[in-house]
Formats: sequence, C-alpha cells, structure tokens
Amino acid sequence: MGTKDTGSNNTAKPNIAFIGLGNMGAPMAENLLKAGYALSVYDLSAEATKRLQQAGASVADSPKEAASNAQVVISMLPAGQHVHSVYLGDNGLLAELPKGTLVIDSSTIAAADARVVAEAASKFGIDFLDAPVSGGTGGAIAGSLTFIVGGSDDAFAKAEPILGVMGKNIFHAGDHGAGQVAKICNNMLLGILMAGTAEAINLGVKNGLDPKVLSDIMLQSSGRNWTLEVYNPYPQVMENVPSSNGYKGGFMSKLMQKDLNLAMQTAKDTDVETPMGAKATELYEAHTLENGDKDFSSIMARHDSSVLS
Ligand code: NAD
Repeated sequence: MGTKDTGSNNTAKPNIAFIGLGNMGAPMAENLLKAGYALSVYDLSAEATKRLQQAGASVADSPKEAASNAQVVISMLPAGQHVHSVYLGDNGLLAELPKGTLVIDSSTIAAADARVVAEAASKFGIDFLDAPVSGGTGGAIAGSLTFIVGGSDDAFAKAEPILGVMGKNIFHAGDHGAGQVAKICNNMLLGILMAGTAEAINLGVKNGLDPKVLSDIMLQSSGRNWTLEVYNPYPQVMENVPSSNGYKGGFMSKLMQKDLNLAMQTAKDTDVETPMGAKATELYEAHTLENGDKDFSSIMARHDSSVLS
C-alpha cells in the first residue's frame, strides 16, 4: 500500500482511481501523476502497480479500495470481459461508487458492451464514458493519444481536462458506445489500407519494380494513403518504421485482429455489410497464427515471407 493521502489534495483537481496498468495504462497514469493528479491505482499484477507506486501513486488492493476516495475512475483493460468483471461482476465497482462519480473506460471493447455498462452506471447515478484511444504505446508515453469519446455532453466536459493530460486530440463522437464505434471504423479502414498497400507493393515487386520507386509513385498518385505516407510495410523503403526493424514494436498484429473482430461483431449485430473489412479480418486471422506479436505491417509477409528474415 502506498502512503500518499489522496484526500489532502488542495487543488481543484479530482482524485483519480486508475485500474489496469499495462502497456498503455501505466504511462497514461504516470502522465496524470506528472500533471499533479492524486492517483490511487489497482492492477491484478503486483509488478504493474510497483512501477506506479515508485512514481508516486497510492496502491490499492481492489478496485473498490482504489475508488474509495476518488471522484473519477479511469480503466484501461484488455477486453470486454475484464471491463464487465470490474464494473458489473461480483463486487462490481458501479454498485460501490457514490452518485456523481465520473467513470471513463479507455479499453477497446465492443460498443454493445460499453452501452451495457453505461446503462447500469446510469441506474446508480454515475456518469460513464467510453473513451478508447488511438496512438499506441508511443502516444501513451508522450501524452499525445487521440481519445474518441462516447457519452453525455456534461460528462465529456468534465473529462476533457483530464483526457487532455494524456492526449492531444479529444473527440466527442456521440452518445454511449459512439467512441467505440468510431474507433473500430478507423481501425477497420486501417487494416484494409495496410493489407491493400502490401498487396499492391507485392504485385509491383513481383513484376520487377523497386518497392521504393513504386511507393514514391503511389504516394504522389491516387493510391496515396496513411500507410504509404508514414508506415510503409516493405522493409527499407522508410526509416524508423517497424518494417525496417524486423517488424518489432508498433501495433501488434494480434491487436489489429482484435479490433477487426470487434468491427465484424458490430457489423453483424447491426446488420451492416462490410465485405472489405471481412476480407481484412480473414487475412489478419491467418497472419496472426504465427505473427501475432509482430507489427501489423508484417501482413506484407503473406505475399513474401523473405521480408521477415
Ligand atoms: P495490457 O495487456 O498491456 O494491459 C492490461 C492490464 O490490465 C494488465 O496490466 C492486466 O494485469 C490488467 N488487468 C486485467 N484484468 C484486470 C482486472 N480485472 N483488474 C485490474 N487489472 C486488470 O494491454 P494494453 O496494451 O495496455 O491495452 C489496454 C487496452 O487498450 C486494450 O483494450 C487495447 O485493445 C487498447 N489499446 C492498446 C493499444 C496498444 O498499442 N497496446 C493501442 C490502442 C488501444
């Protein structure tokens, strides 16, 4: 247990409980500490909490204890079932929080799951926001994440200054679940663009073109897209991208697959056709069997396995 007295904060800043201190949550929580917020933290992993304790947070033994003196709760958990268990399960946190507490869940989960938690929260008089992020671990460390938020105007206004400490662009996408929908629309498009760009470069290379020359041509032509601009999937076309570093770091293929699966689930639940998204999901599903921990641009290896060597 830490010793910091979160109740003696003499600024107008609310006390914050932060739950889930993994690759994303830990640096996000550290940025809140640096900005002067009093933090009480909880994670299942003692190693994860130790890092935050050293940075000045008080460590709790349960989500309930972490939130006992907090006006705001932030969670950054792996998936929907973890969010469900923290807020709704046995000893679920929602039933324990005082009315008026603001809960911000930044995990990437299904929009339907976010709406279930939001509805339960409203029955307890608690404001819930889904606030998934874009920007990866680099953005979490730099405090430059993009937050894509769903929930009420009032809750969004309360959350904005706090999210502004951890991120640069804060969007209010709409009502509950809208943050998650916008996030998976973006990542579905990104998966399609990456798979398509890898396919086009491979077609050119197999027909005798230099991948850099072809990339430069497409970059100045109508095939231009984000992957060609800043994240080329072919090794040595660009410096300082995962493809030029053995596909290490960046955004893991298994996380892209998780987001594509969420997009497919949302499409199915709402009876919307996403044929390109379905194809990208199929490609990443096969690719992650052996390459889940490699950056998602390693989908290039589907066409040319020599790029992995
Ligand atoms: P992670 O696996 O590194 O961290 C998750 C943390 O949650 C772990 O420390 C784990 O011990 C903890 N945890 C799990 N269940 C818990 C519980 N019941 N109570 C308390 N703690 C619990 O995951 P991450 O990379 O930090 O990602 C978190 C979320 O952010 C995911 O939903 C992911 O999809 C999303 N995301 C990740 C990235 C990325 O690049 N890593 C980018 C954007 C969004």
